[in-house]
Order: sequence, then structure tokens, then C-alpha cells
Amino acid sequence: MRGTRAVIHLDNLQNNILEIKKFLAPKTKLCVAVKANAYGHGAVECARTALACGADFLAVAAVDEGLELRKARIKAPVLLLSLCSPDEVDAAVRNNLTPLVFDEEYISLFAEAAGAAGKKSYPVHLAVDTGMGRIGCEPHEAGKIARAVADTGALCVGGICTHFAVSDEVSTKSRDFTGTQFRLFEQAIKSVEAQGIDPGIRHCCNSAATIDHPEFHLDMVRPGIIVYGYYAEEISKEYLEKKGTPLNLKPVMTLQTVVSAVRHFEEGKSAGYGRTWTAGVPTDIAVLPIGYGDGWARRFALNGIPVSINGKEYPVRGRICMDQCMVDVGSDAANGIVRRWDKVILFGAKEDGALQTADDVAKLTGTISYEITSCITSRVPREFIGGRQDTGPRNKDKRA
Ligand SMILES: *Cc1c(COP(=O)(O)O)cnc(C)c1O
Repeated sequence: MRGTRAVIHLDNLQNNILEIKKFLAPKTKLCVAVKANAYGHGAVECARTALACGADFLAVAAVDEGLELRKARIKAPVLLLSLCSPDEVDAAVRNNLTPLVFDEEYISLFAEAAGAAGKKSYPVHLAVDTGMGRIGCEPHEAGKIARAVADTGALCVGGICTHFAVSDEVSTKSRDFTGTQFRLFEQAIKSVEAQGIDPGIRHCCNSAATIDHPEFHLDMVRPGIIVYGYYAEEISKEYLEKKGTPLNLKPVMTLQTVVSAVRHFEEGKSAGYGRTWTAGVPTDIAVLPIGYGDGWARRFALNGIPVSINGKEYPVRGRICMDQCMVDVGSDAANGIVRRWDKVILFGAKEDGALQTADDVAKLTGTISYEITSCITSRVPREFIGGRQDTGPRNKDKRA
């Protein structure tokens, strides 16, 4: 296998789901977001592990993502969180993907497809916009839209949902906004019931709300990022500990590569495109076969992002190329601490010797962990360990 790879710790994923379950009442359903290839971690493997840990639903953004799960013979209900195109509706229905709907045109597309596929009472979930400003009907329209769904004959209201915009922020202003969103959602639910229609599964909580607002769980929660081992912004490890509801998350992905060469640089020799870095003193540069074509983004170098080799940090020098980058190992090659073919950890789990997580990389580079892991490209092979497929020593350890 290529030296550059993403190791996916399915046992850490399992740990995270069991930790999340501590926050849920026994009858609260769990919908795990596996969109964007499970935030870059591998949708099918993560979905299987999540279902084995008791997840009830999966959530994807695109019809193709849903089809990938179905091709892998995953039978669990799959929510389609984003809107699809008219030409995808037939495939969505044939594969029993559950769309979020909120307007009559989209509802009739699904009604027609359900009719053509000979399906009766095909479940759709009603999306309500209570303040996210993305998809969903206005709260006061929910009853009318639910009526439109029921009147198609081919569809039924299987659930109703909304999405929070600032549930990962702890300021009073943000908490008030989330509270207002929840109350608007309750009103929408009532307006559906007033039509004599059962709203079905009521759900609104993303990761942050799942762990910070148990009172908003209703019938199901939809966490994503915490499943993969990262705290949701201000709902941090420390915040939760202080609150008396600790949550022990473990990063699922370790991004690693190898030292493909060590080169001696005399003073004045520059590294890479644009010659943005020049050795001020003689040093050794390790060449790594990873670059922005792998998701190790070009802008990461702006802050001289560190990588770890044998438990020690070294800064990236010069621009990150598409396929390679260079790190300064100082005198550590000469003194034998860094050797050719040594493993390099860019971010990841402690057990792999990582000194930083994807969240740390995100903070250094002005983004969020979501973007760091989901942008690891398909060129990087995912190596799954600690799960059911694992026959390696880690699994044997567990049985012993
Ligand atoms: C992505 C997404 C989630 C999960 O969000 P996290 O912040 O990762 O927990 C939940 N609901 C919807 C509608 C989403 O788009």
C-alpha cells in the first residue's frame, strides 16, 4: 500500500458512538451522518460499524452516496439531507432513500416516482426552516405541506426535522437563538398535528445539540462530527467536563505518510515553488510524498504547519506541492532520530503517535475539523483497523 494513507480506527468510532449513547434516552433513535464519505473516513465501513453499535438511521447528502450504501447491502433507513435533481428522483425512490421535502413541486416529483415504482405510503421527512436559512418550509406552513404530502396518496409523512445554525456556540445570544429555533419547530409539529397528520419521527439535533441539549432530542438525533472524534466547536471537552457531562471522544482518522528522502541543504538553498523558504543555516530536509492532491492543503504551509516523526514535531518548509512537501528535520537526520522510510503522522489518534488532531490542524489553518477530514482525497487509501474486518494484532489483543 502507498505510504501515504488514512488509517481509520473503527474501534475509536465505536467508542465515540457508545459515548454519545450515554446522552440518549433508550428510546431515542440515532441517525449517524455518513455524508461526504463519512466526513472522509469511508462511508460503507463507518456505516457498518455505526449500525453494529446500534445506529437506527444513516444520513447522506447525495443520492449517489445513498446508492453506495445500498450497493454494499446496507438496508437501514437512509435520510437524504440535501435536495437532489429531478433526474435522480427515480433512483432515490428505487433505493428507498428518504428525502427531506418542503415544497409542492419536489413533493410531486417523489409522488410520481413512488407511483411509478409501485410504492405506497413512501415515507418522506418534512424539513422546517426555523433559522438555518437553508432548506425547509416556514414553520407556519408545515401543516399545509404535510397535507400536500398526505394528499398525494403515494407518500406519507415519516418524520419532521429542522437544523440548528448556532448550537455549537455557547454565548447567551446563540443559546437564545437555538431555543427560539426549537420553539418554532414545536409550533411546526403542532400545525402538522392540527391537520390530523402524525408527524412521525421528530428530529433536530446535530452533534453540538445532541450533547449540549438533551432536552431537544425528541425522537431522534443526527450527530456527525462527534462520531468521528472531534468536539463541535465551543461544545469542547473542557466545556462538557465543567458542565458535569463529560464526553471522551477519540479521533478516528490518522493521516500518515513516510519520509521518502532526506536531503542536505546548505545555507541559501531554497525549497519548492516560489522559493518562499531558504535555509538560513545548513539543515536536512525530509521529503514527504503527500500534497494538496491528497488533501494536505497548500494553505496549510502558510503557518509552517508541523508534522510528527517518531514523536517529534517538524515544520513544513516552502509551499506544499500537489504530491509532495518538505519538512525541516534540522540535525535529526544526522543524529539518527529521523531516517528514510520512517513513518510521518500529519494528524490523528494518540495511539499512532500523533501530536495533533485534525481539530488542531483546523485551528492552525482557520477552518474546522469537518473540512480537514472530508477533504482528504480519494487518492489516499483508507486502511480500516479495529473493526470487524480487522485481523491484525489489535483485534487479537482485544480477544485476549
Ligand atoms: C451534516 C448534518 C448533520 C450533522 O452535523 P454535525 O455538526 O456533524 O453533527 C445533521 N443534520 C444535518 C441536516 C446535516 O446537514
